[in-house]
Amino acid sequence: GAAAGPTGAAPSRLVVLAGPTAVGKGTVAAQVRAEHPEVWISVSATTRAPRPGEVDGVHYWFVDDAEFDRMVRERELLEWAVVHGAARYGTPRGPVQDALAAGRPALLEIDLQGARQVKASMPEALFVFLKPPSWEELVRRLVGRGTESEAERERRLATARTELAAEEEFDVTVVNREVHAAVEELVALMTPSGPPPLRD
Ligand code: 5GP
Repeated sequence: GAAAGPTGAAPSRLVVLAGPTAVGKGTVAAQVRAEHPEVWISVSATTRAPRPGEVDGVHYWFVDDAEFDRMVRERELLEWAVVHGAARYGTPRGPVQDALAAGRPALLEIDLQGARQVKASMPEALFVFLKPPSWEELVRRLVGRGTESEAERERRLATARTELAAEEEFDVTVVNREVHAAVEELVALMTPSGPPPLRD
C-alpha cells in the first residue's frame, strides 16, 4: 500500500490500528501509552458509560448523545461509527492534526468501520491489522473478558468473524500472540527510521 506516502519520507506518521473485537487492541494501546510516551494516542469520544477505572479524557471523552451530535454536525470528528450496535465512538480531528503537525507519531485504535473512513480521507496513513493467533484464541479472550452478557458476546463473535476477513484491506498485519511483542512491532512501524519488517 501507500505505507510511507508518495515520497517515502513522511516526518510523522499516522498509524491506524484495527482488528476484530477482543483481539486486544485496547490492551496494546494501553501498553503503548505506558511504555512509549513519544507516541501520541488519540482519545476517542464515546456515548457509552465509563467502565470502572476509566478516566474521562484519558481512555475516552465520555459524552452524551447531544454532545456527540454536535461534534458530528460541526465536523469535529475524523471518523465515527456505531460499534456493536450500541454506543457511538469517534476520533476528534483537531488533536490528530496537531500531533502530526508537531511531528509526533500518532496512533488511532478504532474499529474497522472507522478505519475504512480514515482510509478514504487519509490514504497516506499506515493501516495495521491486529490479528489473533487463532479463532479459538479469539473466542477464549472474548469469553475470558467476562464484561459482556451472553447475548452481547454472541453479537461480538458474529462481528469478529466478519472483521477477520478484512485483513486484506490493510497494509500490515501484526499477530497479537503476546502483548509486549505486538507493541514493539507496532511502535517499530511508527518510527520513520526504518522500513516495516518483512513478514510471512
Ligand atoms: P470499548 O467499548 O470496549 O472500549 O470499545 C469497543 C470498540 O470501539 C473497540 O473495537 C474499539 O476499537 C472501538 N473504538 C474505540 N474508539 C473508537 C473510535 O474513535 N472510532 C471507532 N470507529 N471505533 C472506536
